Amino acid sequence: MGRDCNMAGAENDLQLRDGARIAVVGAGPAGSLFAIFAWRLAAELGRKVQITVFDGKPFTQSGPQGCNMCAGVVAESLVARFREIGLTLPESVVQRHVRGYWWETRAGNLHLSPQKVELEIYTVYRGNGPRGSTPGRNVSFDDYLLGQVSSLGIQVVPQPVADIQVPHGTRNDPATVLVGSKAQKEVYEADLVVGAFGLSLRLARQVSALGFGYVPPPTLPSYQAELRLGADQVKEGFQDSIVIYELGLPGIKFGAIIPKQEHITVTLIGEKAGKESLLDFLAHPLVSERLPPGWQVPGDYCHCRPRVAVAPCQKPFTDRIVIIGDASVSRLYKNGLDSAFLTAQAAAEAAFRHGVSAQAFARYYLPTCWTLARDGAYGRLLFRLSALGFASQRFLRLFVRAARYEQLACRPREQVLGRILWGSFTGNQPYKDILLTALSPRIQWRLWSQLFRRNKRGSPMPRGTAGGSADEVTPDEA
Ligand SMILES: Cc1cc2nc3c(=O)[nH]c(=O)nc-3n(C[C@H](O)[C@H](O)[C@H](O)COP(=O)(O)OP(=O)(O)OC[C@H]3O[C@@H](n4cnc5c(N)ncnc54)[C@H](O)[C@@H]3O)c2cc1C
Repeated sequence: MGRDCNMAGAENDLQLRDGARIAVVGAGPAGSLFAIFAWRLAAELGRKVQITVFDGKPFTQSGPQGCNMCAGVVAESLVARFREIGLTLPESVVQRHVRGYWWETRAGNLHLSPQKVELEIYTVYRGNGPRGSTPGRNVSFDDYLLGQVSSLGIQVVPQPVADIQVPHGTRNDPATVLVGSKAQKEVYEADLVVGAFGLSLRLARQVSALGFGYVPPPTLPSYQAELRLGADQVKEGFQDSIVIYELGLPGIKFGAIIPKQEHITVTLIGEKAGKESLLDFLAHPLVSERLPPGWQVPGDYCHCRPRVAVAPCQKPFTDRIVIIGDASVSRLYKNGLDSAFLTAQAAAEAAFRHGVSAQAFARYYLPTCWTLARDGAYGRLLFRLSALGFASQRFLRLFVRAARYEQLACRPREQVLGRILWGSFTGNQPYKDILLTALSPRIQWRLWSQLFRRNKRGSPMPRGTAGGSADEVTPDEA
């Protein structure tokens, strides 16, 4: 992410004054949340501004057309952030309340659940459910947020933006947003354009071509499938837990199954993510044992191939334009919705309190992007080290064994391996903290001595059952 070195100019020009017009391009979580923050800040500062949100996506439609294509895990941290601003996800949006995580590896499995009565991790749909869902049956997360935007009286234009242009003459001129087809283009002038267009390549290319230095984030392919098992079978096979797989499939960096109401969402990320890798994944004994006996992959199922951002963009701002959400920076493999919240909030605060100049964004918005980007760098290192370690079946087996032993023998706050895994799976902790915990000499000593002890004793590895819980492993087995 490029730092703007020219901080000398006053940030105080280019303020959002009474009558200012704000165009938000994209009504995914970043765009909707920006609109909500902007509306609140305008009210707090007593400014009359006109906010317009543009997006052509019909979130009430089922299938990929109406969906912003993600696994749909709403992390605890986001639930807490929502609560702070007075938003509560209604039950109509929640597909499942998550009770814990299974870590299913080719060298044994482990169930992780927090020592809390009520865990607030939810699964949701980003559109009106998989293709073929009964209309109106599911309320999408994005539609819920956009509903909040509309309820504040903010104008929502259900059309995609064809182009964004920087101020033509002096920097006091407005930026422009073009909406509609080539033949019938409408031009909206704006004192601030907010780019919340996710990883849309078309718009990203146009914004790059404006020449202020924006380069979209690098991405990896992913493949997602919505597979209908029926509510009872989802409950039986997954026990309200998300399953993270460590199967060593070639070209797949991350594989998970996320339980919804009637369906499971299979998410694969990596260069080889596609239909073929999905079939290999589902045929793996550690995956198929959770599926109903005799279940076959349907010939036709709802699927999508979204890209996942794996590093930040370059230079997400210039005078009167700021880029947020996935188009700017998001947490590596985790909590993209959280990053959308944080970048939307930081950009709105910067714009309303300090102005919409490049200098104001560099000083008051960029630090938030940097925090996320830096954490992503630690995340990349963490994933690289764990991929190296877990490539060895022996190390993986010893690690799982040590973590299981720890669950049975240690008090919750002493379960460091469990804490490392929980932090990585849920995204509750910054990657930096997880990495520093994992590499600290005290933990390394404890881990290796425990691994060595377990190995020497050569006890059989305890194994939880699919659909069971770690509590079912008796101390005798350890
Ligand atoms: C496979 C996968 C799984 C994921 N799982 C999770 C998860 O479980 N939990 C989590 O927190 N995050 C997850 N993420 C990340 C999460 O989806 C994103 O971080 C989040 O959606 C970013 O929000 P956004 O608003 O920036 O972008 P988006 O959600 O992509 O929204 C962008 C919006 O811009 C609109 N748009 C695009 N072009 C235009 C245009 N020309 N004019 C107007 N509008 C336009 C689009 O229609 C869309 O509505 C996952 C991502 C992937 C790819």
